[in-house]
Amino acid sequence: MLTFAPGPSKVFDKLPEYFQDAFSQGILSANHRSAVFMDLYKDTESLLKQRLEIPADYKLLFTSSATENWEIISQSLVEQASFHIFSGSFGKKWFDFAQNIIPETASLKLDKNTVLEVADLTISNAFDVIAITQNETSNASQVTNETIAALAGKFPDKMLAVDTTSSMGGIYLDFKLADVWYASVQKCFGMPAGLGLLVLSPKAIAKAKSKGEYGRYNSLNFMLENAYNYQTHYTPNVLGIYLLNRVLQDMPSIWEVQAKTESRMQALEGLVDKSAALAFLVTNAKARSRTVLGVGGEEAFIKAIKQAAEKEGMQMGSGYGPLKPTSFRIANFPAITDEEFEKLIQFLESY
Ligand SMILES: *Cc1c(COP(=O)(O)O)cnc(C)c1O
Repeated sequence: MLTFAPGPSKVFDKLPEYFQDAFSQGILSANHRSAVFMDLYKDTESLLKQRLEIPADYKLLFTSSATENWEIISQSLVEQASFHIFSGSFGKKWFDFAQNIIPETASLKLDKNTVLEVADLTISNAFDVIAITQNETSNASQVTNETIAALAGKFPDKMLAVDTTSSMGGIYLDFKLADVWYASVQKCFGMPAGLGLLVLSPKAIAKAKSKGEYGRYNSLNFMLENAYNYQTHYTPNVLGIYLLNRVLQDMPSIWEVQAKTESRMQALEGLVDKSAALAFLVTNAKARSRTVLGVGGEEAFIKAIKQAAEKEGMQMGSGYGPLKPTSFRIANFPAITDEEFEKLIQFLESY
């Protein structure tokens, strides 16, 4: 069954070969204090920066998931409280975890069709971090680089933390605009789950040091001390890091990836536009995600189209949370081949 679920999502077809190589090369038993591992970390960080155009002085940390990164940010970086701007379930979850750690955490909830008007936004001095979910996987909406730039410009004294779990590796992100970026590999990187990425600017690292939080297994300062030697704070997911390295080696420049993501999304959008039965979950094109398409409809219709797709060997992503019965989602991720994408288009056209 070919899955179009936006996470866990279809993995790259070359993965079996890379699994085998990891085994043959002895990497699976490599000690995480050994030169073999340190070289792998260093090379993977350098590849990620090259492919995604991340500034040279940013640091890559390995965690276990995006969810873990939510807690790390509140525990180790936020000094007063974070202010969360979101429209969907993932942004809401991040806010809930943050508020559990810091009760003063506050939020602004937007409709999924609303583009944030940064000019009208005020955020008081009680908040030192602004949290945004760049690609809200649950309702298939997005925040553009332009909006992130406007936030960075308007609030230069606050730190921006950006959830790009389902977009990093699929579209161009302007990393210099924000100090904290994170993702999981089971979305646009086309890999099995179990590895989180956390990318920090020098400013974010300095802020972690100034907060000086220690003592938890995932205290950022503890992680950073290890990362400077290209080691990790616990025995890491070496297989995941190895696979990421191989996936990054194959990855073209992010501009090439982005062009493909965009043309595929435009093809899908054209189809929904023409269709009498399909409707966009996000009707405002300016707020619509480029890596996840959300399609809404009557409950019976959604059920029927999903079943018909399964008969053709394709699994649509279910709607998420409250949107589960009345929507389905399609991952527009790089691991999906042109032939697979074509098959999906033909199915949707003829349905
Ligand atoms: C999938 C997802 C997460 C959670 O990722 P995990 O790796 O399961 O922790 C968080 N935020 C967004 C936007 C996501 O799409």
